[in-house]
Order: sequence, then C-alpha cells, then structure tokens
Amino acid sequence: MSDPKPRIFTRREILAGAAAAFALSCSGRAQGEPEYDLLLKGGHLIDPKNGISAVRDVAVHQGKVAAVAESIDPGKGFKVVDCSGLYITPGLIDIHVHVFAGTNERGSYAGDNSLYPDGYTFRVGVTTVVDAGCAGWRNFDTFKETVIDRSQTRILALANIVGNGMRGGKFENVLEDMQAEPTAELAKKYPEIVVGVKTAHYSGPEWHPVEEAVKAGELAGGIPVMVDFGSNLPERPIEVLLGEKLRPGDIYTHCFAGNRREMLEDGTPNPGLFAGRKRGVYFDVGHGGGSFKWAVAAKCLEAGFPPDSISTDLHTGSMNSGMQSQLLTMSKFLALGESLDDVVKQSTWNPAREIKREELGHLSVGAIADIGVFGMRTGDFGFVDSFGARQKGKQMLECEMTFKDGLLAFDLNGRTRQDWTELPLDYGRQGDPRWDGILNRRRRRREH
Ligand SMILES: [Zn+2]
Repeated sequence: MSDPKPRIFTRREILAGAAAAFALSCSGRAQGEPEYDLLLKGGHLIDPKNGISAVRDVAVHQGKVAAVAESIDPGKGFKVVDCSGLYITPGLIDIHVHVFAGTNERGSYAGDNSLYPDGYTFRVGVTTVVDAGCAGWRNFDTFKETVIDRSQTRILALANIVGNGMRGGKFENVLEDMQAEPTAELAKKYPEIVVGVKTAHYSGPEWHPVEEAVKAGELAGGIPVMVDFGSNLPERPIEVLLGEKLRPGDIYTHCFAGNRREMLEDGTPNPGLFAGRKRGVYFDVGHGGGSFKWAVAAKCLEAGFPPDSISTDLHTGSMNSGMQSQLLTMSKFLALGESLDDVVKQSTWNPAREIKREELGHLSVGAIADIGVFGMRTGDFGFVDSFGARQKGKQMLECEMTFKDGLLAFDLNGRTRQDWTELPLDYGRQGDPRWDGILNRRRRRREH
C-alpha cells in the first residue's frame, strides 16, 4: 500500500515501453528454452488475497502463475511484456450475468434477454462469469451444451430454483415448479459448473421461493443461494430475509437498488443490511438495467456499508445503459470514493469466496493464470445509474490486456505484438501458442 500509484504515461513513453518489451522478448528467446512462457514486467500488482498492492513482476508457465517477485530476470521469459504504468490484477469475476442466449425465446433470460459472454468479458478484464439463474433443472443441459461448453469465458452458474429458469413471469411465479430436490441433483451432477442456487423475480407474498432455494443449497452440500428479492411486499420484509431466512454465506444481489427498502426514507441504510452482514450474508451489486441507484449506493457507502462484490447483471437491457461493463461499474465505485484496491478486491477475491471457488480470484504461485492488465484514465467523466442519474468522476479504468489460463485473450494496444515495419514484408501469422490464445490457441478445450 505504501507504493505510490503508477502515474499516467504519455503516448511517447508507452511506445518506448513497447519497444523495450520487444527487446526483452528477443533477449528471452536468444537464451534457449526460457523458464517461463510469459513474463509481465513492471506493473503495479493488486492481489488482495495475498495482501499485495505494489510493483511486481508476474511470471506464467503452462497456464499457471509460476513466480511473483519484485524483479524477475527478463531472460527467463519466453514472452516478456512491459506493464510499467499499468495495474495487474487477478482476472475479474462477475458473479451476476445472463448468458443463456440462442434459444430464440422472446422476453426471456433463457433467450433473447441474454448475451453470449465472450464479446463482453475479455475486453474488460473479466475471465469468469456466473450466470445468475437463467436456467433451472429442466433446461440446464441445453444451456450447458449450447453456451457453457462453447464459450472461451469461464462460465459458472447459479441454478434457478424454478425448473424452467428465467423464462418470464408466467414461469417464474409458479410455486409448484420451485423444487429443491431436482435443483440439488443438478448441482451435484455438475459440481464444476453449478456454484449455487438462484431465486428471483417472485411477485407473490410467500417465502416458499427463498425457503426452497435454501433447502436446495443444503441438499447440494451447502452451496450458497443468491436472492433477487423480486417485488417489495409487506408480508416478506427484507429484515426477515436477511435476519432469519438466509444463511451465512448466502448472497443478497441488487443491494443498492433501493426498491426493496434497502434505504429508509431518511436516507440511512436499512439496519437489516448491517444485521445481515453481521450474520455473514454477502451483499452484491448486480447493477443491471434497474437495480443500481446513486442515492442508495452513496448513502450506504457513507454509512460504512460497501458492497462485498461488484457485479454487472449483464443482459440486453443493461449492456448499453448506465451499466455497460464490469470495469465501468468498478469505476463507479471509485467515483464514490472507494480505493482501487477495494474495488479490485470486490471484483476478484471477494466474489471467488462468495461462490466458494477459492482457486480463482488471486495470483498466488500455482494459481490459474487468469490476469487483467489495466490503465487508469484521468479526466472529467460521468457515470449513469439505472435510473438515468449522473455522478461525476475523475478516474476511469481501461482494460489493456486480458489473459485466461495464461493465454492472451485481449490486447487493446497490441502491447504483445511487434510493429509490422520490423517484420519481413511477407510476415505470416504472429504469436506463439505458449502465450497467445488469440492467433495461436494452445488449448481449445474449455477448462473450469
Ligand atoms: Zn439478473
């Protein structure tokens, strides 16, 4: 924490850095077989699990983090990339998205409201998403076969307690279709994918959806439940949900929506939020197209109630609205005064813990080498909430590079590439399968 924050580099300096990276890259190849496939040099590493926020070199070999140190000999890297002036973080984890696209069902999150994830993840540093209940036990196999297994993004899922999933109100309000046993069976069938249970969008007065989801979580061996609390009804107040119905480790999403009495009329957070947190309930942003209000978020943060995790609630109704992306949503919390270290923690290690996938969300030696590399733009920016209100800010994160399983998945400025003028005129396809997942993919098979 004591390190000064990296300053913003000029274009000239960035170009000089790219040239240096090229030189380093060449020197690495000249010394025989290098120890590491990839070496990110000189970036400011933020790895909250390991308590690191300082300039560090990060080495990757065969998809795993191989070394993290103040300085690693560039000769040990097959591919060396200059990251000076940039931030390096674990690949971002967005635990609330909707990606069950392709069924052609209108007005459905198991259809037209969902998005194929790869176009929305790597370009903002996200390597893992959690689909928040688009599918239930009746249609999960279709989701797995048509989206999860075919995507490059690591897709985990919360199984909807509704067997039909999020196919719209006429399905999501059917109490008889909310069944713990088959939901738990589904979770046990795909333990590598299903990380929890979702209940959402219920408009009736009963507690049954929450109770059945918790039961499913128990039957599946203690996996968490994420709650979208649906309509605000006096028969099932938020204080009872957070104080009695949810277990420690369950997740309350849309925590700054404001339409379920998260904030009281006097502008103070509902005391039930603090009571829930004390019991171990997690609070997730789930920004979406209607679930993030500046007034609620700002007042909660002022009162000492930051989110545990930042997530997007990505879908067709939020992608081009105020939400836009995980990275923009993180920049919003910078605008509200959170530190960069905090928003990175809320987008990496914290969500990994919430979904009990602690092999993700950090860059310990031996960990999966999912990595985000970011620049920080400074200037006069504006950020819009789900209700169309604006908040000014001075900082905006920008994704420079993303690596998934140690392979390049996105490179905004071609920092890993050589200038064409330095190549022979008849140059062919560039990159190497040891580090390049775009032009030269080493592993096509998806890994969780
Ligand atoms: Zn959602």
